[in-house]
Amino acid sequence: MNNLMAGHKRFRNGYWRRYQKRFATLAREGQAPEAMVIACSDSRVSPEVIFDCAPGEIFVVRNVSNLVPPYAPDTGNHGTSAALEFAVTVLKVKTLVVLGHSLCGGIRTLMSGPASNHGDFIESWMAIAQTARKRVCDSPEQGEDFDSLCYRCENESIRVSLSNLMTFPWIASRVKTGELTLAGLHFDVQTGKLETI
Ligand SMILES: [Zn+2]
Repeated sequence: MNNLMAGHKRFRNGYWRRYQKRFATLAREGQAPEAMVIACSDSRVSPEVIFDCAPGEIFVVRNVSNLVPPYAPDTGNHGTSAALEFAVTVLKVKTLVVLGHSLCGGIRTLMSGPASNHGDFIESWMAIAQTARKRVCDSPEQGEDFDSLCYRCENESIRVSLSNLMTFPWIASRVKTGELTLAGLHFDVQTGKLETI
């Protein structure tokens, strides 16, 4: 906790001072981000840092392994879908980015297969990317190790999330008219580079 408070002190002296006017405008006029990013909760892949964003620039939702579930308007607690709905129908963002990354713990759990020690929620959440796992396992590459399998699954799961985005009617309709663009990116934690999926 001390580290966090020390960091906030640095924020007040640095970032806050630099963007104080911008924060004041955003407080007065509200936010109008042009893009939404769906990213992993992993501490190494903060979208605001990776894209070097100013305050108000991107709308972000983070969850385990940057997954988008399929459209399912029922009484479940759909946190990611609610964030998407707000960004697309209220804020009217122009771009949706699914940001995957290397060394993703959720993907490694998924690729490890069913186990009894994956807690109460992680296994059923990761089932969203089961199609990605199947695609990777069904097309093995010669001499492939576990890390390479996981890397391929990270990319396949981004494709699954992009497909799932299109199951939301208010996303699909805007993509068709050109009001909204979807993109998949993979961030390499070791090199800091981005790859388009
Ligand atoms: Zn991750």
